[in-house]
Amino acid sequence: MAASIPATRPADSLPITRFNSVVVRFRRLATTGLIAALGAHLAFVVLFWLLDVWLLVAFNVFSVMLYALCLTGMRFPVLRPVTLVLAWLEIIAHAGIATLALGAASGFHYLLLALVPLVYIDPRGHSLTRLVGLLVLTGLFAGLELISILHDPWFPLAEKTLTWLRVGNGILCFAALGTLINVYARTSRQSERDLRNMAATDLLTGLRNRRSLTDEARLLAAERQSEARQLAVILVDLDHFKQLNDRYGHAFGDQVLADTARLMNRTMRPSDSVARWGGEEFLILLTDADLDRAICVAERVRESIAAQTFRSDEGQTLSITATLGVTEWRGNEEFEASVSRADDALYLGKKNGRDRVEVAKP
Ligand code: GH3
Ligand code: MG
Ligand code: MG
Repeated sequence: MAASIPATRPADSLPITRFNSVVVRFRRLATTGLIAALGAHLAFVVLFWLLDVWLLVAFNVFSVMLYALCLTGMRFPVLRPVTLVLAWLEIIAHAGIATLALGAASGFHYLLLALVPLVYIDPRGHSLTRLVGLLVLTGLFAGLELISILHDPWFPLAEKTLTWLRVGNGILCFAALGTLINVYARTSRQSERDLRNMAATDLLTGLRNRRSLTDEARLLAAERQSEARQLAVILVDLDHFKQLNDRYGHAFGDQVLADTARLMNRTMRPSDSVARWGGEEFLILLTDADLDRAICVAERVRESIAAQTFRSDEGQTLSITATLGVTEWRGNEEFEASVSRADDALYLGKKNGRDRVEVAKP
């Protein structure tokens, strides 16, 4: 009795949606950053209380409330941009007021450095905005450093206390920079992997595409110069597929293609490769297989396709057949030459009545 599988689309499970996750990842990073900032400012409240710098106690109490407000704002998409601008302004104001209050020796203006990656990280940022952002931060940093020469701090602290504050701010700055750059590097590596995957995958069937298999064949061809390997090529073409589309609709045709792809994938060894070669054609590249084994595999694929009953969402069922052309990929020839020979065999199979395996003439 013919097996029956529901028609599904393996392509749905492709990692395309991860593309959108770059924005989500940065949003999570912003939320984590806001929580960390809230914690740090609470610590500053205690610290400046102990150092008796009332202006910075008051400012940090205000900052804690502002970050709590920002965290609430992050829950609402419409408020997110304002929230992030407020957080930016807080860091700039904090660096400015703390430097005026304690002097540049306290190192509070170092925190402006942690904003530099943020100027570049926003994927929607404009290059002019980035340049302006960088110039503003550079100007603020230099200005705060220079202002200390021109005016005495409002709350002079002991040299030793200032050194400890500078060390603490330096550590905060390194931690923030390291975290931001790490997330950025991980995200771009992930995006690159996703792009490579997508460029090598056929969207409808989830199989590798023609380009990917051709690349693999080139690698195999290069490897083969150092070690003798027996390789074989099978070209599979579904029979009367145009009629199937005409009778049952293109969408059902798509489902049949996707299910046939899954079926073939299941029939292969992990070391063999199946690709969607184009339209309703698939190419199988067998490694360490002589012609006899290739014929066996082709026969198994043909039988399993013929034994399959496809069922649409609307309850329509049908069976299809395929014609296959088989050949060895000889050591001294280009991959394309063996594919062309398999194609000739396939053509012969169509002429000889379809639903059959035809072997290329030596
Ligand atoms: P043969 O037995 O000689 O191979 O006949 P055939 O109808 O399968 O071959 P033909 O080359 O005449 O037509 C191929 C059909 O495959 C026509 C085209 O619409 C269909 N096809 C190609 N790609 C897709 C696809 O992605 N989805 C669907 N549904 N159909 C496709
Ligand atoms: Mg065809
Ligand atoms: Mg066909």
